[in-house]
Amino acid sequence: MAKIGLQGRLFLSHVIVMVVGLSTLITVGKFYSPRLFVLHLAKLEGSGFKLGYVRYQLIKGFEYAWGRGALWSVVVGGSTAGGLSYLVARRIVKPLTQMEAITQKFASGNLSERMPANDIRELHRLAASFNRMAADLQGVEQRRRELVGDLTHELRTPLTVVEGYLEGLADGTIEPSVDIYQRLAKETRRLRRLVNDLQELSQAEAGYLPIHTQKLELLPLLTSLIQKFSDQLLEEGPELRLDCPAALPLALADPERVEQILINLLGNALQYTEQGSITVQAWSEAGKVWVAVVDTGVGIAPADLPHVFERFWRSDPSRDRSSGGTGIGLSISRRLVELQGGQIEVKSQVGQGSTFKFSLPLA
Ligand code: ADP
Repeated sequence: MAKIGLQGRLFLSHVIVMVVGLSTLITVGKFYSPRLFVLHLAKLEGSGFKLGYVRYQLIKGFEYAWGRGALWSVVVGGSTAGGLSYLVARRIVKPLTQMEAITQKFASGNLSERMPANDIRELHRLAASFNRMAADLQGVEQRRRELVGDLTHELRTPLTVVEGYLEGLADGTIEPSVDIYQRLAKETRRLRRLVNDLQELSQAEAGYLPIHTQKLELLPLLTSLIQKFSDQLLEEGPELRLDCPAALPLALADPERVEQILINLLGNALQYTEQGSITVQAWSEAGKVWVAVVDTGVGIAPADLPHVFERFWRSDPSRDRSSGGTGIGLSISRRLVELQGGQIEVKSQVGQGSTFKFSLPLA
């Protein structure tokens, strides 16, 4: 079945159509036209014309002229049609072979290959959808590479610290002390947190985190969260407030995930707010429910704002690394919000505070 290629098939089908057409034309012409001509002559003779022996010459002449005409039309028509059909077949098949070559290059790892535009509509659509898929794959591959790169960097720092201390302890250059062991434990905790966060992040990014959306009443959830966090607040620390109307419409969301997002945002707000207040607000607007965590903390510089949701990003890596931040919390939060069909935004002013808000669809 697959012996004849598309180009051969197209060409062959054109040729067959042409042969059938020409042979019908010739057969019909060959048998029908001379007969009509003879009938015509007979009519002429009937109406009084004397044709005599010219009659034979006329019929011969007609047959000769017809034969010549037919021959040339077969030669000229046949070769023009054949040539055209060859060109058409090639024009359809060429982009297909080109596409095949490109997909092969793509499969062998050259992800920047793209299909050229095509003026045949169906092929153009095929090329466009291949290009979309290619761009998606390239994005995934790039993120994977970045993740591995970031990850090695993140793991190397605590490992180097632990290794340094352990070697120092082993050869006696470092005196064992409670402080040293505490530092070792701290680095190990950091590693464990990093691994936990990473697992969560990779699941969230791959879309494997199960999201069980349901009709969700936000007020009780927010109240209990504020309750939990109030216990962690220090005397001289910021004040924790809730600003949520009693008649808030139901959201369509997963309570556990919403809680996870808020724990992240509140945790950050607490960490970066020395004094003032942290307010959790909720309201509904344009078919969505919005929840915001507003703090009066250190704020985020305008240049840093676009990066806060990137994984491993911290505004001050050295300070935050020692405080145990992994820079993963906000990327997980963003994925969780997106998986529930919402969006997350940040506004901030250095020295004034930050507002992180996210939306959830209405139930
Ligand atoms: P981390 O685990 O380091 O907190 P996040 O992804 O939660 O990771 O936050 C990324 C960075 O964004 C933080 O390191 C911090 O620099 C900045 N950030 C997040 N929330 C706030 C906030 N409320 N105020 C100031 N900076 C913040």
